Amino acid sequence: MKKVKANPKMPVAVWSEKEIMDGQIVDSLVVVLRSKGCFWSRKNGCLMCGYNNDCLSSVSSEDLVNQFELAIGQHTNQPYLKIYTSGSFFDPEEIDMVAQKRILEMAGQKAGQVLVESRPEFVTAENLQRATDLLKRLEVAIGLETANDDIRAKCINKGFLFSDYKRACDILKKNDASIRTYLLLKPPYLTEGESIADVKNSIERVSEISQTISINPVNVQRGTVVEGLWKRRYYRPPWLWSLVEVLRAPSKVRIVSAPSGGGSKRGIHNCGKCDKGILNAIREFSLRGEINIFNELDCDCREEWLDTLELDNFAGSTGDLARLMKPQ
Ligand code: SF4
Ligand SMILES: [Zn+2]
Repeated sequence: MKKVKANPKMPVAVWSEKEIMDGQIVDSLVVVLRSKGCFWSRKNGCLMCGYNNDCLSSVSSEDLVNQFELAIGQHTNQPYLKIYTSGSFFDPEEIDMVAQKRILEMAGQKAGQVLVESRPEFVTAENLQRATDLLKRLEVAIGLETANDDIRAKCINKGFLFSDYKRACDILKKNDASIRTYLLLKPPYLTEGESIADVKNSIERVSEISQTISINPVNVQRGTVVEGLWKRRYYRPPWLWSLVEVLRAPSKVRIVSAPSGGGSKRGIHNCGKCDKGILNAIREFSLRGEINIFNELDCDCREEWLDTLELDNFAGSTGDLARLMKPQ
């Protein structure tokens, strides 16, 4: 496939999708802006993150406003607006104050609820005050990934602690902003079973703090540590059965998941035969929250998944045993 040169004046992508707002299914407009990218990914970087592939160091403040003007031109009355930047919206090095203000002004005029993403260090009282003045309702998504500080440091290299997340959430709460927390299913160096247990434990801790929890299964992105492990057969993306298992976990708050690359070899997948049906069920569950939707699901590969959970533990391995045992 021929690589098209990224244009600093054009957003990465704009699309419409369903969301929940005030308990109702509504349309939301999703805008992915091409920014300079996440400072952490330039400095150190999370082991699974390839978002800097979508970024461009030459993007200026005017470019960002320009991109958003183009994107918002596609707004057709959606009450919910999600603005992604492949980094932190509130990081002034990524989206400077002038662009932040202009984008939020336009967003506030169009939508009833606006979601942006940020690392905890950029969630400050000043940033929040400025944003909530310009918007009717603000939701901030934070990629906590796990409630376990050891796993976040050693298996993800996230560069912040649970206490940093908690501090950011306190500020969000004080400013009446909603909190959406991302949890990561299957970081490297954990077995499938360990990852399921970690997400369940994280759901329990985070549901005290966050209004929505979004489970993000790892997909193997270009140029990442995870890709290196995957190519050498030391990593398998999670099974869809594992995601179903964690979505069924008891929670006081709404749990959703919109796996990227689901059903592909780089994304969360099962045997190939049942993937589409399970992904549809996950989509439905994320909108309606009805756990019964998973009751009907079955496939021969469920046994293989159960065997994997046992075998990983027995072998003490986090590699992709099925591929490692195959002659190359
Ligand atoms: S996962 Fe988030 S915090 Fe980590 S490098 Fe990527 S954009 Fe930055
Ligand atoms: Zn199957």
